[in-house]
Amino acid sequence: SKMLAQSKEEGKPTFSFEFFPPKTAQVQRQEAATLIFGAKLSQGVQNLYDRMDRMHGLGPKFIDVTWGAGGSLSNLTCEMVKVAQSVYGLETCMHLTCTDMERSKIDEALQTAYEAGCTNILALRGDPPRESEKWQAVQGGFRYAKDLVKYIREKYGDHFDIGVAGYSEGSDDNDNVDELIDHLKEKVDAGGTFVVTQMFYDTDIFIDWVNKVRAKGIDVPIIPGIMPISTHAAFLRRAKWSKIKIPEAWTEALDPIKNDDSEVREVGKGLVADMCRKLIDAGILHLHFYTMNLAQSSRMVLEELDLLPDVESPLQKPLPWRPSLGLK
Ligand code: FAD
Repeated sequence: SKMLAQSKEEGKPTFSFEFFPPKTAQVQRQEAATLIFGAKLSQGVQNLYDRMDRMHGLGPKFIDVTWGAGGSLSNLTCEMVKVAQSVYGLETCMHLTCTDMERSKIDEALQTAYEAGCTNILALRGDPPRESEKWQAVQGGFRYAKDLVKYIREKYGDHFDIGVAGYSEGSDDNDNVDELIDHLKEKVDAGGTFVVTQMFYDTDIFIDWVNKVRAKGIDVPIIPGIMPISTHAAFLRRAKWSKIKIPEAWTEALDPIKNDDSEVREVGKGLVADMCRKLIDAGILHLHFYTMNLAQSSRMVLEELDLLPDVESPLQKPLPWRPSLGLK
């Protein structure tokens, strides 16, 4: 994987940030909407770009932009990839799902990424269908993420690095971890060049899983998904949602302070940083942060790990929509 080549060479841990298209993307404040690349941007999107700019100053190796299941907000994903890659010059990875969606949408997204100079796609299946009828709705469509991996390889050769999803504690529709590793192998054999994992908090389970994955002959880089702790409620909700184990020590540390958000962030920072240190000690040299579009808690963990640059230098690109420039 080109994205990760340097971190291996230098032996110094690197990190990346994940963003999602803001749900407030519908233009709410017409006066704030501006045309860029033919798209109308809302205040929410502008705020996100401003944040991307500041977070660029933290020195991520790359950023990625998620894909709305079934292609919702897909135009926005494409726009964000274009802006991040070609305006901000950030190495960008575009998520792309392949089920419950017209193939033309996939083709358009890949072409947009290609033209923007983006060379990284995270190829996903997307949410499981709720009813079998819906499952067959897209004629000639894809069934598994590996079908998308194959398709991208056939269409674009080696242009893209292709990431695939890994699940150390089971996925939403399959808790058989061994079976999931077999399916992960199929995705890598189809052309996947790196793995990004679901979030987790139990490092021991994760490292065991990495060893199992390696034992199966999967030797591409594995990027652990790190979810920093912002509030106690969000911490519990996300762990439950991903069906991941919360180590007892974490519960003991966080439960007594659950009503104090800043305490939770502070203690949570320590717990997540310890987890990252263990990963780094185990030879995992790239950390992927689920930022939830917010800088603070990821930043705190990186600071604790001493991975932030001495001088933060946001690009402050003179983007045309910046109100501070007085442009309308
Ligand atoms: P697959 O690898 O295709 O697996 C899906 C299911 O099919 C699994 O149960 C698997 O075991 C089974 N399976 C695979 N191959 C076979 C086979 N040959 N025979 C039988 N069964 C098989 N969703 C979004 O909508 N947008 C995003 O941007 C997004 N980003 C994500 C990022 C990461 C890092 C992760 C971990 C998940 C993300 N997801 C996203 C969620 C993802 O789309 C769902 O978890 C989805 O349910 C599974 O996607 P997959 O790519 O892992 O599917």
